[in-house]
Amino acid sequence: MSSPVLVWFRSDLRIHDNTALATAAREGPVIGVFLRCRRHWQGHGLGANKLAFWSRGVTALQASLEGLNIPLLHRDLDDFSEAPGALLAIAHELGAGSLHFNHEYPLDEVNRDRAVASAFATAGLSARGHHDGVAFAPGELLTGKGDFYAVFTPFSKAWHRQLSADRLALRDTPAAQSLMSIPSDPLPEGPPLQAPPIDESFWPAGEAPAADRLARFLRFRGRHYKRQRDFPAIRGTSELSPYLALGMISHRQCLQAVLAENDGSLAEGDAGLTAWVSELVWREFYQHVAFGFPRVCRHRAFQVATERLPWRNDDAGFAAWCEGRTGYPIVDAAMRQLVATGWMHNRLRMVTAMFLTKHLLIDWRRGEAFFLRHLVDGEFAANNGGWQWAASTGTDAAPYFRIFNPTTQSQRFDPEGTFLAEWLPELADLPPKARHAPPRDLLGGVDYPPPIVDHKAARARALDAFKSLTTD
Ligand SMILES: Cc1cc2nc3c(=O)[nH]c(=O)nc-3n(C[C@H](O)[C@H](O)[C@H](O)COP(=O)(O)OP(=O)(O)OC[C@H]3O[C@@H](n4cnc5c(N)ncnc54)[C@H](O)[C@@H]3O)c2cc1C
Repeated sequence: MSSPVLVWFRSDLRIHDNTALATAAREGPVIGVFLRCRRHWQGHGLGANKLAFWSRGVTALQASLEGLNIPLLHRDLDDFSEAPGALLAIAHELGAGSLHFNHEYPLDEVNRDRAVASAFATAGLSARGHHDGVAFAPGELLTGKGDFYAVFTPFSKAWHRQLSADRLALRDTPAAQSLMSIPSDPLPEGPPLQAPPIDESFWPAGEAPAADRLARFLRFRGRHYKRQRDFPAIRGTSELSPYLALGMISHRQCLQAVLAENDGSLAEGDAGLTAWVSELVWREFYQHVAFGFPRVCRHRAFQVATERLPWRNDDAGFAAWCEGRTGYPIVDAAMRQLVATGWMHNRLRMVTAMFLTKHLLIDWRRGEAFFLRHLVDGEFAANNGGWQWAASTGTDAAPYFRIFNPTTQSQRFDPEGTFLAEWLPELADLPPKARHAPPRDLLGGVDYPPPIVDHKAARARALDAFKSLTTD
């Protein structure tokens, strides 16, 4: 019998369409490994919601692997730096000749994987990374000058232009292998951090719930996506982000499903479906940015000049934003949705991020960290990209003078105040149109704060701060 092959699972918790697993299974009998690096994850700012979802995803993965007679081993590590030693020890103990894994692109993960590859090479073993979570490996799509793209639209055009069918071909699911004498390790006990504060039933973990979400989205909402995606009171988006972030579903599975629904096209045809494809390309774009501009992984601004912005140290303002008591109902409702569910609608991520960075002129890094601590879909590249976009410090940066007015955003995207009433029940008795900016005389005894900043004055302050960058 050939020697066993290790597959190191990380944010690719699935047995279907998994490049590392499919490749390893062609080589020999597979043994899966999962490393829990709790201290490192905490150091990266991941919170209990995401870590608990991750943990439940690993449980689901273990059950699926056992259906294929593939055991899953667990090791608890403090830190990424212990990964090479832990994996080599397993390889030596089991006589495994090689290790496969799917690449992750933020800097620490890249360095961790390089250290593993080098330790394996020194030991005379093979460790092979696969580009699995993206259609193009970072570096494959470059501008005419040979640089990484710093703007989405040309990246997206190049992505569509160079896409070929083989890039989206689904990888084989391994057949059940002969039973091995090595059993799976018992699942680690308890949540990886503290118990998550959210209702976990909304986020069932694993490939089956993810596939079910995708199918339901495409069947009932995909074609309306372009029209409905911006309205937080409507469940118009896929709510697949936590599943994509941890690889319980792949971008290929999503795109193949669109191809099947849209006469074989990703760029033309139904406007709702193609708009949704564009969001998946955004996801890939930010992964390329994290890899191609690693300074963003070091808490640096993408637009280096914006590092001189005079951010305000306003702890009271930050606390009001976190707790949903800024006096701007759309901001407050969104922040309460985030804290209660671990998820926030994309339109509101933009509104709240812009409010923090422009109206309160608070450093985007504080908001980025707060989101990561609460989001069940918290993912470095997309979160950093979104925050730097909103703060006008990033790629495609919103021009600094484009500052959302939270009240008009609310009137436009929640016209009946339905979302506001759901998350701010204290405003539910007001006439719908009054909920966007409740007049004090209508509030009576209702405990809802007045706005903590005046929109016009805050806008002028933000403009001055950005203008100071060019006049210094
Ligand atoms: C400030 C800010 C922070 C964000 N933080 C994260 C994060 O930590 N994790 C995360 O997955 N997304 C993040 N996003 C992007 C986006 O808001 C979420 O992906 C989306 O709301 C998830 O809902 P959905 O699955 O229903 O998305 P859909 O609208 O159904 O989109 C499908 C998928 O495309 C991807 N996607 C959609 N929009 C974006 C985008 N703007 N950038 C990158 N990928 C995108 C997601 O994987 C998403 O699941 C952030 C956006 C902003 C403005």
